Amino acid sequence: MSALSDKSQQAPSGGCYVILVSAGRGRRFGGDVPKQYRQLAGKPVIRHAIERFLAVKGVSAILPVVHPDDAPLYTAALAGLDRVMTPVPGGATRQESVRAGLTAIADDKPATVLIHDAARPFPSPLAIAALMTRLEEEPGAILASALVDTLKRAAAGHIVETIPRDNLWRAQTPQGFQFDAIMAAHLSAPHDNFTDDAALAEHAGLPISIVPSGDENFKITTEADLTMAENVIALENGPAHKSDDKGKASLPLIRVGSGFDVHRFGAGDHVWLGGVKVPHTQGLVGHSDADVGLHALTDAVLGAIADGDIGTHFSDRDPRWKGASSDQFLAHAISLLVARGGQLLSLDLTLICETPKLRPHHQAIRARIAEIADLPIGRVSVKATTTEQLGFTGRGEGVAAQALATVSLPDAV
Ligand code: MG
Repeated sequence: MSALSDKSQQAPSGGCYVILVSAGRGRRFGGDVPKQYRQLAGKPVIRHAIERFLAVKGVSAILPVVHPDDAPLYTAALAGLDRVMTPVPGGATRQESVRAGLTAIADDKPATVLIHDAARPFPSPLAIAALMTRLEEEPGAILASALVDTLKRAAAGHIVETIPRDNLWRAQTPQGFQFDAIMAAHLSAPHDNFTDDAALAEHAGLPISIVPSGDENFKITTEADLTMAENVIALENGPAHKSDDKGKASLPLIRVGSGFDVHRFGAGDHVWLGGVKVPHTQGLVGHSDADVGLHALTDAVLGAIADGDIGTHFSDRDPRWKGASSDQFLAHAISLLVARGGQLLSLDLTLICETPKLRPHHQAIRARIAEIADLPIGRVSVKATTTEQLGFTGRGEGVAAQALATVSLPDAV
Protein backbone atom coordinates (compact mmCIF):
# COMPACT_ATOMS: atom_id res chain seq x y z
CA MET A 1 0.00 0.00 0.00
CA SER A 2 2.54 2.50 -1.07
CA ALA A 3 0.19 4.14 -3.58
CA LEU A 4 0.15 7.35 -1.53
CA SER A 5 3.85 7.96 -1.86
CA ASP A 6 4.03 6.59 -5.42
CA LYS A 7 1.23 8.84 -6.53
CA SER A 8 2.84 11.98 -5.18
CA GLN A 9 5.46 11.61 -7.87
CA GLN A 10 2.82 11.48 -10.61
CA ALA A 11 0.64 14.24 -12.11
CA PRO A 12 -0.82 16.00 -9.08
CA SER A 13 -4.34 16.74 -10.30
CA GLY A 14 -7.28 15.28 -12.16
CA GLY A 15 -8.44 11.70 -12.31
CA CYS A 16 -11.23 9.84 -10.60
CA TYR A 17 -10.75 8.72 -7.00
CA VAL A 18 -12.89 6.24 -5.09
CA ILE A 19 -13.66 6.68 -1.40
CA LEU A 20 -14.58 3.32 0.03
CA VAL A 21 -16.56 3.79 3.25
CA SER A 22 -15.59 0.90 5.50
CA ALA A 23 -15.68 2.41 8.98
CA GLY A 24 -18.94 0.79 10.13
CA ARG A 25 -18.66 -1.87 12.79
CA GLY A 26 -21.72 -3.74 11.53
CA ARG A 27 -23.47 -4.10 14.87
CA ARG A 28 -26.75 -4.83 13.11
CA PHE A 29 -25.07 -7.84 11.55
CA GLY A 30 -24.00 -9.48 14.79
CA GLY A 31 -20.77 -11.35 15.34
CA ASP A 32 -17.31 -9.95 15.84
CA VAL A 33 -16.26 -9.36 12.24
CA PRO A 34 -17.87 -6.33 10.54
CA LYS A 35 -19.86 -7.31 7.46
CA GLN A 36 -17.46 -5.68 4.98
CA TYR A 37 -14.68 -8.01 6.18
CA ARG A 38 -16.76 -11.20 6.21
CA GLN A 39 -15.67 -13.90 3.81
CA LEU A 40 -17.60 -14.09 0.54
CA ALA A 41 -16.52 -16.85 -1.87
CA GLY A 42 -13.04 -16.97 -0.38
CA LYS A 43 -12.29 -13.27 0.04
CA PRO A 44 -13.55 -10.40 2.15
CA VAL A 45 -16.65 -8.52 0.92
CA ILE A 46 -14.66 -5.27 0.60
CA ARG A 47 -12.19 -6.89 -1.77
CA HIS A 48 -14.94 -7.84 -4.21
CA ALA A 49 -16.00 -4.18 -4.38
CA ILE A 50 -12.42 -2.97 -4.88
CA GLU A 51 -11.76 -5.43 -7.69
CA ARG A 52 -14.82 -4.16 -9.55
CA PHE A 53 -13.61 -0.57 -9.35
CA LEU A 54 -10.11 -1.59 -10.42
CA ALA A 55 -11.66 -3.22 -13.49
CA VAL A 56 -12.91 0.21 -14.70
CA LYS A 57 -10.63 2.25 -16.93
CA GLY A 58 -9.92 5.71 -15.52
CA VAL A 59 -10.12 4.89 -11.79
CA SER A 60 -6.94 6.53 -10.44
CA ALA A 61 -6.88 5.40 -6.82
CA ILE A 62 -9.05 3.93 -4.08
CA LEU A 63 -9.00 5.31 -0.53
CA PRO A 64 -10.53 3.06 2.16
CA VAL A 65 -11.93 4.91 5.18
CA VAL A 66 -11.74 2.46 8.07
CA HIS A 67 -12.22 1.96 11.78
CA PRO A 68 -8.82 1.78 13.51
CA ASP A 69 -9.95 -1.23 15.57
CA ASP A 70 -10.22 -3.23 12.34
CA ALA A 71 -6.52 -2.89 11.46
CA PRO A 72 -5.78 -6.64 11.23
CA LEU A 73 -8.94 -7.13 9.14
CA TYR A 74 -8.38 -4.40 6.59
CA THR A 75 -4.65 -5.03 6.40
CA ALA A 76 -5.36 -8.62 5.40
CA ALA A 77 -8.28 -7.69 3.14
CA LEU A 78 -6.36 -5.06 1.14
CA ALA A 79 -3.05 -6.91 0.86
CA GLY A 80 -1.43 -6.89 -2.56
CA LEU A 81 -4.00 -4.66 -4.30
CA ASP A 82 -2.88 -2.13 -6.86
CA ARG A 83 -3.92 1.55 -6.65
CA VAL A 84 -5.26 1.20 -3.08
CA MET A 85 -4.09 4.05 -0.86
CA THR A 86 -3.13 3.81 2.81
CA PRO A 87 -6.46 3.75 4.67
CA VAL A 88 -7.55 6.72 6.78
CA PRO A 89 -9.63 6.53 9.96
CA GLY A 90 -13.31 7.42 9.72
CA GLY A 91 -15.53 9.37 12.09
CA ALA A 92 -18.53 8.72 14.31
CA THR A 93 -21.04 8.93 11.45
CA ARG A 94 -20.99 7.88 7.82
CA GLN A 95 -20.95 11.52 6.81
CA GLU A 96 -17.91 12.29 9.00
CA SER A 97 -16.14 9.28 7.51
CA VAL A 98 -16.75 10.50 3.95
CA ARG A 99 -15.57 13.98 4.92
CA ALA A 100 -12.37 12.45 6.36
CA GLY A 101 -11.83 10.69 3.03
CA LEU A 102 -12.48 13.81 0.97
CA THR A 103 -10.09 15.80 3.16
CA ALA A 104 -7.40 13.13 2.79
CA ILE A 105 -7.43 13.31 -1.01
CA ALA A 106 -8.06 17.06 -1.39
CA ASP A 107 -4.37 17.85 -1.93
CA ASP A 108 -4.33 15.44 -4.89
CA LYS A 109 -7.01 17.60 -6.57
CA PRO A 110 -9.00 14.78 -8.17
CA ALA A 111 -11.47 15.90 -10.85
CA THR A 112 -14.17 13.51 -9.64
CA VAL A 113 -14.82 11.20 -6.72
CA LEU A 114 -16.97 8.10 -6.39
CA ILE A 115 -18.19 7.33 -2.87
CA HIS A 116 -19.03 3.69 -2.23
CA ASP A 117 -20.14 1.54 0.71
CA ALA A 118 -17.70 -1.34 1.23
CA ALA A 119 -20.62 -3.62 2.14
CA ARG A 120 -21.87 -3.52 -1.49
CA PRO A 121 -19.67 -6.11 -3.21
CA PHE A 122 -21.27 -6.05 -6.68
CA PRO A 123 -21.26 -2.60 -8.32
CA SER A 124 -21.27 -3.31 -12.06
CA PRO A 125 -18.12 -2.05 -13.82
CA LEU A 126 -20.36 -0.95 -16.73
CA ALA A 127 -22.56 1.10 -14.39
CA ILE A 128 -19.48 2.60 -12.71
CA ALA A 129 -18.14 3.63 -16.13
CA ALA A 130 -21.54 5.15 -17.04
CA LEU A 131 -21.48 7.12 -13.77
CA MET A 132 -18.01 8.46 -14.55
CA THR A 133 -19.12 9.51 -18.02
CA ARG A 134 -22.12 11.34 -16.53
CA LEU A 135 -19.77 13.34 -14.29
CA GLU A 136 -18.10 14.85 -17.35
CA GLU A 137 -21.32 16.86 -17.82
CA GLU A 138 -22.94 17.04 -14.40
CA PRO A 139 -21.85 17.80 -10.83
CA GLY A 140 -23.38 14.66 -9.33
CA ALA A 141 -24.93 11.30 -10.26
CA ILE A 142 -25.79 8.13 -8.38
CA LEU A 143 -26.51 4.50 -9.18
CA ALA A 144 -30.12 3.63 -8.38
CA SER A 145 -32.54 0.82 -9.17
CA ALA A 146 -36.10 1.45 -10.26
CA LEU A 147 -38.70 0.40 -7.73
CA VAL A 148 -40.72 -2.61 -8.88
CA ASP A 149 -42.70 -3.34 -5.71
CA THR A 150 -45.86 -1.42 -4.94
CA LEU A 151 -45.43 0.69 -1.82
CA LYS A 152 -48.00 0.78 0.96
CA ARG A 153 -48.12 3.11 3.90
CA ALA A 154 -49.59 1.39 6.95
CA ALA A 155 -50.78 2.45 10.38
CA ALA A 156 -51.58 -0.01 13.18
CA GLY A 157 -51.03 -2.90 10.77
CA HIS A 158 -53.51 -1.68 8.15
CA ILE A 159 -52.90 -0.02 4.82
CA VAL A 160 -53.83 3.61 4.76
CA GLU A 161 -52.33 4.55 1.42
CA THR A 162 -50.87 3.13 -1.79
CA ILE A 163 -47.95 5.22 -2.97
CA PRO A 164 -47.56 5.43 -6.74
CA ARG A 165 -44.20 3.91 -7.58
CA ASP A 166 -43.72 6.00 -10.73
CA ASN A 167 -40.45 7.91 -10.52
CA LEU A 168 -39.38 6.16 -7.30
CA TRP A 169 -35.82 4.84 -7.13
CA ARG A 170 -33.73 3.00 -4.57
CA ALA A 171 -30.49 4.89 -4.05
CA GLN A 172 -27.33 2.78 -4.20
CA THR A 173 -23.64 3.52 -4.23
CA PRO A 174 -21.31 4.45 -5.81
CA GLN A 175 -22.47 8.04 -5.80
CA GLY A 176 -20.26 10.24 -7.96
CA PHE A 177 -19.49 13.93 -7.81
CA GLN A 178 -17.23 16.54 -9.24
CA PHE A 179 -14.74 16.79 -6.42
CA ASP A 180 -14.85 20.51 -5.68
CA ALA A 181 -18.67 20.49 -5.57
CA ILE A 182 -19.01 17.64 -3.06
CA MET A 183 -16.10 18.88 -0.93
CA ALA A 184 -17.79 22.30 -0.63
CA ALA A 185 -21.15 20.65 0.14
CA HIS A 186 -19.57 18.57 2.93
CA LEU A 187 -17.78 21.54 4.43
CA SER A 188 -21.00 23.57 4.55
CA ALA A 189 -23.32 20.74 5.66
CA PRO A 190 -25.62 21.94 8.45
CA HIS A 191 -25.57 18.61 10.35
CA ASP A 192 -23.96 15.17 10.37
CA ASN A 193 -27.06 13.05 9.79
CA PHE A 194 -27.48 12.92 6.00
CA THR A 195 -28.00 9.25 5.15
CA ASP A 196 -26.15 9.45 1.85
CA ASP A 197 -23.99 11.90 -0.06
CA ALA A 198 -26.69 12.60 -2.61
CA ALA A 199 -28.99 13.90 0.16
CA LEU A 200 -26.22 16.20 1.34
CA ALA A 201 -25.55 17.38 -2.20
CA GLU A 202 -29.27 17.91 -2.85
CA HIS A 203 -29.41 20.04 0.28
CA ALA A 204 -26.54 22.10 -1.11
CA GLY A 205 -28.56 22.63 -4.29
CA LEU A 206 -26.52 20.41 -6.61
CA PRO A 207 -28.47 18.73 -9.40
CA ILE A 208 -27.97 14.97 -9.07
CA SER A 209 -28.86 12.62 -11.90
CA ILE A 210 -29.69 8.93 -11.82
CA VAL A 211 -27.77 6.16 -13.58
CA PRO A 212 -29.92 3.00 -13.63
CA SER A 213 -28.38 0.02 -11.89
CA GLY A 214 -29.49 -3.53 -11.17
CA ASP A 215 -30.66 -5.01 -7.89
CA GLU A 216 -27.53 -7.18 -7.76
CA ASN A 217 -25.73 -4.11 -6.37
CA PHE A 218 -27.32 -4.76 -2.98
CA LYS A 219 -25.87 -3.96 0.41
CA ILE A 220 -24.95 -6.79 2.75
CA THR A 221 -26.72 -6.07 6.01
CA THR A 222 -27.85 -9.46 7.30
CA GLU A 223 -26.59 -13.02 7.35
CA ALA A 224 -29.23 -13.81 4.68
CA ASP A 225 -27.73 -11.11 2.42
CA LEU A 226 -24.35 -12.82 2.71
CA THR A 227 -25.90 -16.12 1.62
CA MET A 228 -27.58 -14.33 -1.30
CA ALA A 229 -24.20 -12.84 -2.26
CA GLU A 230 -22.65 -16.33 -2.26
CA ASN A 231 -25.45 -17.40 -4.59
CA VAL A 232 -24.84 -14.46 -6.93
CA ILE A 233 -21.20 -15.50 -7.28
CA ALA A 234 -22.09 -19.15 -7.72
CA LEU A 235 -24.51 -18.17 -10.53
CA GLU A 236 -21.91 -15.94 -12.19
CA ASN A 237 -19.19 -18.55 -12.13
CA GLY A 238 -20.93 -21.88 -12.02
CA PRO A 239 -20.79 -23.64 -8.66
CA ALA A 240 -18.13 -26.18 -9.61
CA HIS A 241 -15.82 -24.01 -11.68
CA LYS A 242 -15.25 -20.65 -10.14
CA SER A 243 -12.96 -18.45 -12.17
CA ASP A 244 -11.61 -14.94 -12.06
CA ASP A 245 -11.90 -12.29 -14.79
CA LYS A 246 -9.15 -13.94 -16.82
CA GLY A 247 -10.80 -17.34 -16.64
CA LYS A 248 -8.20 -18.61 -14.18
CA ALA A 249 -9.42 -21.02 -11.53
CA SER A 250 -9.88 -19.18 -8.24
CA LEU A 251 -11.30 -21.42 -5.56
CA PRO A 252 -11.22 -20.08 -2.01
CA LEU A 253 -7.88 -20.98 -0.51
CA ILE A 254 -8.14 -23.95 1.83
CA ARG A 255 -5.21 -24.67 4.10
CA VAL A 256 -4.53 -27.51 6.52
CA GLY A 257 -2.27 -27.51 9.58
CA SER A 258 -1.12 -30.39 11.75
CA GLY A 259 -0.19 -30.50 15.41
CA PHE A 260 1.41 -33.08 17.67
CA ASP A 261 2.05 -33.10 21.42
CA VAL A 262 3.07 -35.41 24.26
CA HIS A 263 2.89 -35.01 28.03
CA ARG A 264 4.19 -37.52 30.56
CA PHE A 265 2.26 -38.88 33.52
CA GLY A 266 3.13 -37.71 37.05
CA ALA A 267 1.48 -37.39 40.39
CA GLY A 268 -2.17 -36.38 40.44
CA ASP A 269 -5.76 -37.54 40.38
CA HIS A 270 -6.97 -36.16 37.03
CA VAL A 271 -5.84 -35.19 33.54
CA TRP A 272 -7.12 -32.40 31.27
CA LEU A 273 -7.93 -33.68 27.78
CA GLY A 274 -9.62 -31.50 25.16
CA GLY A 275 -10.69 -29.02 27.81
CA VAL A 276 -12.38 -31.68 29.96
CA LYS A 277 -11.23 -32.76 33.42
CA VAL A 278 -10.95 -36.55 33.34
CA PRO A 279 -10.46 -38.39 36.67
CA HIS A 280 -7.41 -40.66 36.65
CA THR A 281 -4.92 -42.32 38.96
CA GLN A 282 -2.20 -39.98 37.69
CA GLY A 283 -1.89 -36.46 36.33
CA LEU A 284 -0.03 -35.07 33.32
CA VAL A 285 3.11 -32.99 33.87
CA GLY A 286 3.43 -29.63 32.18
CA HIS A 287 3.95 -25.91 32.66
CA SER A 288 0.27 -25.20 31.90
CA ASP A 289 -2.57 -27.61 32.62
CA ALA A 290 -0.77 -30.10 30.27
CA ASP A 291 -3.86 -30.52 28.07
CA VAL A 292 -2.14 -32.45 25.32
CA GLY A 293 -5.25 -32.42 23.12
CA LEU A 294 -5.74 -28.66 23.15
CA HIS A 295 -2.00 -28.16 22.61
CA ALA A 296 -2.04 -30.32 19.47
CA LEU A 297 -5.13 -28.45 18.20
CA THR A 298 -3.48 -25.08 18.89
CA ASP A 299 -0.43 -26.11 16.88
CA ALA A 300 -2.66 -27.36 14.07
CA VAL A 301 -4.39 -23.96 13.76
CA LEU A 302 -1.05 -22.12 13.94
CA GLY A 303 0.28 -24.51 11.32
CA ALA A 304 -2.56 -23.68 8.92
CA ILE A 305 -1.64 -19.98 9.03
CA ALA A 306 2.12 -20.66 9.21
CA ASP A 307 2.48 -18.62 12.39
CA GLY A 308 4.94 -20.52 14.55
CA ASP A 309 3.90 -22.93 17.29
CA ILE A 310 2.41 -22.87 20.74
CA GLY A 311 5.83 -22.26 22.30
CA THR A 312 6.31 -19.15 20.13
CA HIS A 313 3.13 -17.59 21.46
CA PHE A 314 3.05 -19.02 25.00
CA SER A 315 6.54 -19.65 26.35
CA ASP A 316 6.82 -22.40 28.97
CA ARG A 317 9.13 -20.08 30.88
CA ASP A 318 6.47 -17.38 31.16
CA PRO A 319 4.96 -17.43 34.66
CA ARG A 320 1.65 -16.19 33.22
CA TRP A 321 1.04 -19.63 31.72
CA LYS A 322 1.99 -21.66 34.83
CA GLY A 323 -0.99 -23.93 35.48
CA ALA A 324 -2.91 -22.02 32.79
CA SER A 325 -6.07 -23.41 31.32
CA SER A 326 -5.19 -24.37 27.73
CA ASP A 327 -8.51 -23.29 26.19
CA GLN A 328 -7.06 -19.78 25.90
CA PHE A 329 -4.18 -21.09 23.72
CA LEU A 330 -6.58 -22.55 21.16
CA ALA A 331 -8.85 -19.49 21.26
CA HIS A 332 -5.83 -17.23 20.66
CA ALA A 333 -4.64 -19.26 17.67
CA ILE A 334 -8.13 -19.02 16.15
CA SER A 335 -8.21 -15.25 16.74
CA LEU A 336 -4.97 -14.96 14.74
CA LEU A 337 -6.67 -16.85 11.91
CA VAL A 338 -9.73 -14.58 12.04
CA ALA A 339 -7.51 -11.48 12.08
CA ARG A 340 -6.18 -12.61 8.68
CA GLY A 341 -9.72 -12.71 7.34
CA GLY A 342 -9.76 -16.49 7.67
CA GLN A 343 -12.29 -18.95 8.98
CA LEU A 344 -11.87 -22.22 10.87
CA LEU A 345 -13.65 -24.99 8.97
CA SER A 346 -12.98 -28.16 10.97
CA LEU A 347 -10.85 -29.78 13.66
CA ASP A 348 -9.82 -33.43 13.95
CA LEU A 349 -8.09 -34.67 17.11
CA THR A 350 -6.67 -38.10 17.91
CA LEU A 351 -5.76 -38.85 21.54
CA ILE A 352 -3.30 -41.71 22.01
CA CYS A 353 -3.03 -43.53 25.36
CA GLU A 354 -3.74 -46.82 27.15
CA THR A 355 -5.37 -45.08 30.12
CA PRO A 356 -7.54 -43.31 31.04
CA LYS A 357 -10.26 -44.89 28.95
CA LEU A 358 -11.78 -42.05 26.95
CA ARG A 359 -15.00 -43.54 25.64
CA PRO A 360 -17.11 -42.16 28.54
CA HIS A 361 -15.68 -38.66 27.97
CA HIS A 362 -15.67 -38.61 24.18
CA GLN A 363 -18.82 -36.53 23.63
CA ALA A 364 -17.97 -34.11 26.43
CA ILE A 365 -14.54 -33.49 24.87
CA ARG A 366 -16.07 -32.90 21.44
CA ALA A 367 -18.62 -30.51 22.88
CA ARG A 368 -16.00 -28.57 24.86
CA ILE A 369 -13.68 -28.19 21.84
CA ALA A 370 -16.64 -27.05 19.70
CA GLU A 371 -17.42 -24.46 22.38
CA ILE A 372 -13.84 -23.17 22.62
CA ALA A 373 -13.47 -23.02 18.82
CA ASP A 374 -17.00 -21.64 18.23
CA LEU A 375 -17.66 -24.41 15.72
CA PRO A 376 -20.77 -26.53 15.17
CA ILE A 377 -20.13 -29.88 16.82
CA GLY A 378 -20.42 -31.58 13.43
CA ARG A 379 -17.14 -29.94 12.46
CA VAL A 380 -15.24 -31.28 15.47
CA SER A 381 -13.91 -34.82 15.41
CA VAL A 382 -12.33 -36.51 18.44
CA LYS A 383 -10.88 -39.99 18.21
CA ALA A 384 -9.05 -42.12 20.75
CA THR A 385 -6.67 -44.98 20.19
CA THR A 386 -4.12 -47.08 22.02
CA THR A 387 -0.80 -48.18 20.57
CA GLU A 388 -1.35 -51.86 21.41
CA GLN A 389 0.90 -51.52 24.49
CA LEU A 390 3.82 -50.57 22.24
CA GLY A 391 6.07 -47.59 22.75
CA PHE A 392 5.86 -44.91 25.44
CA THR A 393 2.11 -44.57 25.35
CA GLY A 394 1.82 -48.35 25.32
CA ARG A 395 3.93 -48.53 28.48
CA GLY A 396 1.60 -46.00 30.10
CA GLU A 397 4.24 -43.28 30.38
CA GLY A 398 2.09 -40.48 29.03
CA VAL A 399 -0.50 -39.28 26.55
CA ALA A 400 0.14 -38.23 22.94
CA ALA A 401 -2.16 -36.27 20.66
CA GLN A 402 -2.20 -35.37 17.02
CA ALA A 403 -4.53 -32.93 15.30
CA LEU A 404 -5.51 -31.43 11.96
CA ALA A 405 -7.10 -28.02 11.44
CA THR A 406 -8.72 -27.05 8.13
CA VAL A 407 -9.17 -23.34 7.44
CA SER A 408 -10.13 -21.04 4.58
CA LEU A 409 -8.14 -17.88 3.94
CA PRO A 410 -8.36 -14.98 1.52
CA ASP A 411 -6.16 -15.88 -1.44
CA ALA A 412 -3.77 -12.96 -0.83
CA VAL A 413 -2.83 -13.98 2.73
MG1 MG B 1 2.12 -29.43 25.38
